[in-house]
Amino acid sequence: MKIALIAHDEKKPMMRQLVRAYQPFLQGHELFATGHTGQLVAEETGLPVHAFNSGPLGGDQEIGALIAQNQLDLVIFLRDPLTAQPHEPDVNALIRLADVYNVPLATNLGSAEVLLRGLNAGFLNFRSLVAGDESQHDHYTEP
Ligand code: PGA
Repeated sequence: MKIALIAHDEKKPMMRQLVRAYQPFLQGHELFATGHTGQLVAEETGLPVHAFNSGPLGGDQEIGALIAQNQLDLVIFLRDPLTAQPHEPDVNALIRLADVYNVPLATNLGSAEVLLRGLNAGFLNFRSLVAGDESQHDHYTEP
């Protein structure tokens, strides 16, 4: 699976803890991240991470572009709801595209843990049916 990881500055310590704890679940997947988040994920996990630009410099848009090609299967975006972000429009655009393509997206620690456990349990395998498909995944997948 292709997984994108993003954390706003105030949430970076939480991202460190999350990826350290769930390193075994992330192993074997293809990891993508915005610039600084990518550095910390690589440091904490020892896993290869494709790091895009920093978020405020276009990294969220680069990840959004992957979503628009239906090339991402899971997005964990620990966003900071209490601090104004200069790149708020990019953040909203990324979240919107995840909704357009029905890509599982966690925006806080609680949902991130659920999705990572779901990933480990194979609940995201339906993505292999839709990833890269020109047609959107816009219908319910039989359990
Ligand atoms: P960063 O970007 O990982 O480069 O800090 C995250 C963001 O602010 O969107």
